[in-house]
Amino acid sequence: IREFAEAGADEGLAILANEQTGGRGRLSRKWDSPPNMGLWFSILLRPNLNLKKSGLLPLTAAVAVADGIERELAIKPQTKWPNDLLLQGKKFCGILSEAKIIEDNFKFIILGIGINLNQKLQNFPDTFRSHATSLSLHVNKKIDKTALLAKILESFEKWYHELAKKRFNSILKEWKTRCAHLGSQVKIVTPNEEITGIAEDISKNGLLLLRTQDGERKEILAGDCHLLI
Ligand code: ATP
Repeated sequence: IREFAEAGADEGLAILANEQTGGRGRLSRKWDSPPNMGLWFSILLRPNLNLKKSGLLPLTAAVAVADGIERELAIKPQTKWPNDLLLQGKKFCGILSEAKIIEDNFKFIILGIGINLNQKLQNFPDTFRSHATSLSLHVNKKIDKTALLAKILESFEKWYHELAKKRFNSILKEWKTRCAHLGSQVKIVTPNEEITGIAEDISKNGLLLLRTQDGERKEILAGDCHLLI
């Protein structure tokens, strides 16, 4: 996608892989993407969006993926800040956005989305087996990859349109309705610090608003969010 983007491809281009050998999450962590097991795809975007709003991109994608899954499979995934989707507290989808920015404008954004479809528990490496799940484990059937992808892309079009029309509140409202941890005690781990507090809200730019133990309200731009209860 990056090569197409650099060569001037229009936004909306999506590329799907059957397998990824170099799949990754944030901070170059490995994202396990074995053959025939999941939807591993990227979408090229060229949004006309203020840079301050870039935190809303992964939230928009999370809402769209959750919405598409709900329409296809009648289950309700939960959002976890900043970039995951969960079912019964376990992660089945990760979303990564990478941007090229020139002179304070997005040249392009590549949105990478990985969704576990058909893994059984034993297919996950032991390092994260206890935190991971797949859609088929929740609906007890093999997931039809093409049908689900079609629903997700349809939903993505709808929610990306909301973003383009600057209807940020409608995206945030939907994301918060689906969120598993607002109001809960969390620990945020960034490369520089660890902060514990209540995840009170999400700001209008998509940042996590954390009420720390000494009563201060902090805006968190990025970090690992661990639920403590
Ligand atoms: P965490 O999920 O630990 O809060 P994160 O959301 O920051 O971290 P990402 O960068 O989105 O993590 O994803 C990488 C992490 O997700 C890996 O370190 C691994 O623990 C886990 N992981 C990797 N592949 C999968 C997968 N297919 N399904 C579920 N979890 C995975």
